[in-house]
Amino acid sequence: MSALFPLIDIPFTQRHTCWFCGEPCNAIFNYQAHHYTPHPSLSLPCCKECLSFASKAPLTSIWDCQMAVKDELMRRYAKHLAIGENWTEQELAESEFSCKVFEGFKKSAWFMYQVAKQRVSASGWPLSLNGVSLDASQYDLGFMFDGVNYTSISSAVEHYSNMLGLDKLFLQDLVTLVGRERFGYAVRICRINIASTKAVKRQVLADMSNELND
Ligand SMILES: [Zn+2]
Repeated sequence: MSALFPLIDIPFTQRHTCWFCGEPCNAIFNYQAHHYTPHPSLSLPCCKECLSFASKAPLTSIWDCQMAVKDELMRRYAKHLAIGENWTEQELAESEFSCKVFEGFKKSAWFMYQVAKQRVSASGWPLSLNGVSLDASQYDLGFMFDGVNYTSISSAVEHYSNMLGLDKLFLQDLVTLVGRERFGYAVRICRINIASTKAVKRQVLADMSNELND
């Protein structure tokens, strides 16, 4: 895939790096800004896995999207990350696993843990376009809704999807379309369509997108 929007500035040392997770990059993520987005549309280098997560959850800014990608990485690699929580490297080395199979496990398990840990804690370099930095410090990732503070819009989406049994991908699409100010509205539309087919949901998104563009 090629860059549809201006490519962010890439430091020389990061030129083959996924902006989301720090692994080698082999894809481009195109972030399309909406009427409420606090930065212009942009493209950035990423790995295929982060691309698939980011494409599903652009949400309300590239920084919210970054949080969503981290959340998904954490979910997907929960087992790998748990290795580091349950064992220290030394404990694992000194563990009683002695047969060949477990020897391999000990080495690969710690490696998997380290890779997963590095990926979820990578923070991406500060964003800039043609030398003009996009100021993330003014942007509050936290999100308050119905008297509850969420660390990110991504965690609010997760919470509401679980609590109300909503289609998370649909809710993400709706929030991306209307913006965080209208989160309640997105939840309502999602609830109304709780039994709708994929085709109907696609139509709802298309209609709303047209309305917003009118
Ligand atoms: Zn990545």
